[in-house]
Amino acid sequence: MSNLGFIGLGIMGRPMAGHLLAAGHRLVVHDVNPVPDDLLKAGATAAKSGKDVAEQSDIIFIMVPDTPHVNAVLFDKGGVAEGVKAGKIVVDMSSISPLATKEFAKAINARGADYLDAPVSGGEVGAKAASLTIMVGGPENAFNTVKPLFEKMGKNVTLVGGNGDGQTTKVANQIIVALTIEAVGEALLFASKAGADPALVRQALMGGFASSRILEVHGERMVKRNFEPGFRIELHQKDLNLALDGARALGLALPATAMAQQLFNACAAQGGKAWDHSAMVKALELAAGHEIAKA
Ligand code: NAD
Repeated sequence: MSNLGFIGLGIMGRPMAGHLLAAGHRLVVHDVNPVPDDLLKAGATAAKSGKDVAEQSDIIFIMVPDTPHVNAVLFDKGGVAEGVKAGKIVVDMSSISPLATKEFAKAINARGADYLDAPVSGGEVGAKAASLTIMVGGPENAFNTVKPLFEKMGKNVTLVGGNGDGQTTKVANQIIVALTIEAVGEALLFASKAGADPALVRQALMGGFASSRILEVHGERMVKRNFEPGFRIELHQKDLNLALDGARALGLALPATAMAQQLFNACAAQGGKAWDHSAMVKALELAAGHEIAKA
């Protein structure tokens, strides 16, 4: 049994924290919002600050929305940095900036503790089913210590490299997901406008070279017009901003990523910030003057 901490108990953090509790660990939790009852009933203790969590825990997990939130959790007054010391490990599982992550890791290391960036892929479904893909950056010793805990939350756990490399991997993942949503949207729109049944086209393609999880899951959402999130467009905009900011810093062109971001921006302009990211197809439909028929 380990003394663990978990900060950020939203869509993802709540079930992930639940798996750590279910594995029999002592868990101290904190959120700016009230801590979910199910975690308290399962034995978690609520702490009033990140500092309190860090003082009571050997390993502190963080799962908050974006870079400024991680910065606040770590370094605001009463933050995690005030409660860490040598031997402790801070594990940020949020999807945030790789460049900021390197700075956060240095500042935590300066207090004697280790830092791992460990963003995830797999969504709410993967968080609940403990089947997340977890991409980790940081020192191997710390990774080996935390690996059995990662395996309580995910199935495919990889140490990619040093601090920041986990976040870089997640940005790469989000580029692939956005561009594949765009490709699936264009293909189903084309098929529909040409008079074919998009539901059957999707089904036929699932057996061939164009098959993918995105064609399966997001393609079905497009056909059934189910744009309840899932993964919100505003979170994907955040991730593509990380890609495009990184590209600018690296002197690199990512033309299709920039276009996908513009399509998300068009959705947001139509009031769709909180739509599921498969709703990117709506921006394509607007430009085409044609909507994929309901299945
Ligand atoms: P969420 O908004 O549902 O949850 C975030 C939680 O963090 C909230 O409970 C919020 O109150 C808390 N929080 C914010 N600032 C805080 C602070 N300073 N101190 C303490 N708690 C604070 O978000 P989510 O969907 O759980 O996503 C979390 C991260 O996981 C994001 O970086 C997201 O990109 C990533 N992610 C999400 C999904 C998904 O499908 N939702 C999939 C993969 C990765």
